[in-house]
Amino acid sequence: MPTLVMKFGGTSVANLDRIARAAKRVALEVANGYDVIVIVSAMSGKTNELVGWVNDTSPLYDAREYDAIVSSGENVTAGLMALRLQEMDIPARSWQGWQVPVKTTSAHSSARIEEIPTDNITAKFGEGMRVAVVAGFQGISPEGRITTLGRGGSDTTAVAFAAAFGAERCDIYTDVDGVYTTDPRITSKARKLDKIAFEEMLELASLGAKVLQTRSVELAMRYKVRLRVLSSFEEPSDKAGTLVCDEEEIMEQNAVAGVAYSRDEAKMTLISVADRPGIAAAIFGPLADAGVNVDMIVQNISEEGRTDMTFSCPTDQVLRAEKAVADAMAKGEINYHDLVTDDGVCKVSVVGIGMRSHAGVAAKMFKALQDESINIKVITTSEIKISVLIDRKYLELAVQALHDAFELEKAA
Ligand code: ASP
Ligand code: MG
Repeated sequence: MPTLVMKFGGTSVANLDRIARAAKRVALEVANGYDVIVIVSAMSGKTNELVGWVNDTSPLYDAREYDAIVSSGENVTAGLMALRLQEMDIPARSWQGWQVPVKTTSAHSSARIEEIPTDNITAKFGEGMRVAVVAGFQGISPEGRITTLGRGGSDTTAVAFAAAFGAERCDIYTDVDGVYTTDPRITSKARKLDKIAFEEMLELASLGAKVLQTRSVELAMRYKVRLRVLSSFEEPSDKAGTLVCDEEEIMEQNAVAGVAYSRDEAKMTLISVADRPGIAAAIFGPLADAGVNVDMIVQNISEEGRTDMTFSCPTDQVLRAEKAVADAMAKGEINYHDLVTDDGVCKVSVVGIGMRSHAGVAAKMFKALQDESINIKVITTSEIKISVLIDRKYLELAVQALHDAFELEKAA
C-alpha cells in the first residue's frame, strides 16, 4: 500500500477534541488506501512549559536531561492519538523515537537525524497495522540517550520519515492554510500560493516565514519529498494548502514568488580598517566565535589601503558583536577608526526562482521603494533573492509597496 506521512503541529493536537478531529483526517486517508505514518507535536504550549521547568530547576542544565524532559510532550500526544484511532476501529499504535529507532547525533537539544531504519514499522504494517503514530522532535543518540531536534523539529521528523519510507507526500497540518506571498497581517492582498519551489520555501522559511522548520525544507529538497502545508481547521479538499515541490512541477512562474522580512536587524560598520589579506577573517572569525549570526556583509571600495566593512546581525546580538570586535581591537588583531551601530533597521527581501530568467527585478524593486521615499541602506543579492536593509519604521510600507509592484495578488 502507498504510504502517506501526516504531521500535526501543536495547535492541531492542543486538546482531546482537536486530537479527535485530527484522527478523523487520518481515518479519511486510511479509507483512501494509505498506510499512514502520523507524526505529532506536543500540545501547544507544552514544550514551552517543559523548557520553563528545566530552566527553573537548573539554569545551567545538563542538556541530556533537558532532552529527556522536553521530549515528553510528544509522547503524550502520540499515545492519545493512537488510542483515539483505536476507538475508531483503526489498527494503530504509538512509537517513541527510540523505539523506531530514530538514530540521531548526540548534539543534545539540536541533534540531527542520521538514520531511520524502516523494518520495525514496515513489519507492523505487514501485520495489518494501518497507522503508526510517531512522537516527533525526538530520537536516540549513539550513546543511547534521548535527543531532541531543536524547536520546531517535528517538521523535520515528518520529512525524514517521508524520505525513509518513500512516502507519496508529507502533509504538514498547522494553523495556517498554506504559504502566502507575504505576511497577511501586513497586507490583506497577500495570496495563498498553490505551489512553491523548495528553494523559494527555503529562502522564505529562513527569512522568517515561520511555517516550517528550515531544516525540514532542506531535507525535503535533498530527498525530493513533496510537502503540503495545510490547515487542520479547514474542510478537507484536494485544493487545500500549498504544495512545496520541485521547480519542474511548477509550470507558470512569476518573477517573484513572495516578499519576506525580518524585523529586528542591526547594521554595524567598522570604519576604516586596514585593507589587507586576512582582514575579513580577522573580523568575522571572532564574531563567529562569539556566536553572532552575521547575515549580510558588504566591503566598500578601499582608499589608500583602508576600507569600511559593514555587516548585519539580529538586534539582540549587537552587544556580543560589539564586544567581539572591541576585544579583537584590544588584542591588535584588527584596527578601525570607529564602529557605528544602527539597530533600527529591518530586512525586506523579494524571492523567486523566476528571477533567473526575468531581467529587471532589482530595478523594479528599487523603483518601488523610491516611490515611497524609502532609503536603502544595504543591498545584497543571490540567484533567487534580493534583500535590502531599510529603516524599521518603513517595514510595512515597503512590504506593501513591493507586493503591489510585483502584482503578487495575481496568480501567474
Ligand atoms: N514541540 C516542539 C516545539 O514546540 C517540536 C515541534 O512541535 O515541532 O518546538
Ligand atoms: Mg511548527
